[in-house]
Amino acid sequence: MAVTKLAEKSKMSDAEWETRCNLAALYRVVHKLKWTDLVYTHLSARVPGEDNHFLINQYGEMFDEVTASSLVKLDLDGNVIGADGEFNFAGFTIHSGCYMARPDVNCAAHLHTTASIAVASQKDGLLPLSQHSLYVLSDVAYHDYEGPAVDLDERESLGRDITEANCILLRNHGSLALGRTIPETFRNMYYMEVSCQIQIAAQSTGAELIMMPDEVVEVTGERKMERFRKNDAGQLEWDAMVRKLDREGSDFRT
Ligand SMILES: [Zn+2]
Repeated sequence: MAVTKLAEKSKMSDAEWETRCNLAALYRVVHKLKWTDLVYTHLSARVPGEDNHFLINQYGEMFDEVTASSLVKLDLDGNVIGADGEFNFAGFTIHSGCYMARPDVNCAAHLHTTASIAVASQKDGLLPLSQHSLYVLSDVAYHDYEGPAVDLDERESLGRDITEANCILLRNHGSLALGRTIPETFRNMYYMEVSCQIQIAAQSTGAELIMMPDEVVEVTGERKMERFRKNDAGQLEWDAMVRKLDREGSDFRT
């Protein structure tokens, strides 16, 4: 299938176009970090000022093909808004479930990385092994596997599991990062993924592992949450990644 441009900048608010550009950039960043799974998995963002509408990738696009105008706009009932576009139904289930359960969340990123699936499949989940994990452990939750997310009933169980966490490990399936903004979601996703990579690498040595002391995990976790309670969480890292895309001549803004 050919990648279709569905939206025109002149026919939407500046805020929607800016969100489209940033979400397309997030797809490009995930591609750059090699965290894709062919054309599967999905990243989304709520449209500013339109609480029941969100943007998601067109089904079949590689992440390095996604642009601001190729994103599909959906409502929470699965209706395509504006120009017609195909979307992944499991993606709709997961992302609409997030936005329905969490009015504070404006961006969600779901990945199927080897490391996140490997850690999500471990009974004890994410362990306090690395400094990176300190940025995740106080904000992590688990969601049990119910099969591919094609049954809308899963929105209810997912909604219950994500009530108080922004870094979710989906058992046997992957990761789900949430945030109030795209930069915040990126930061949550980044630290969750890297923590999982480190855990698998450490476990693969077969050596006896040293966990960080509980008090260190607790104190640093609280500091992390304090920073996240500020609205600019992740902005520094995000801006740096967008500059990198721009230096490389990426066309994500088209
Ligand atoms: Zn998935």
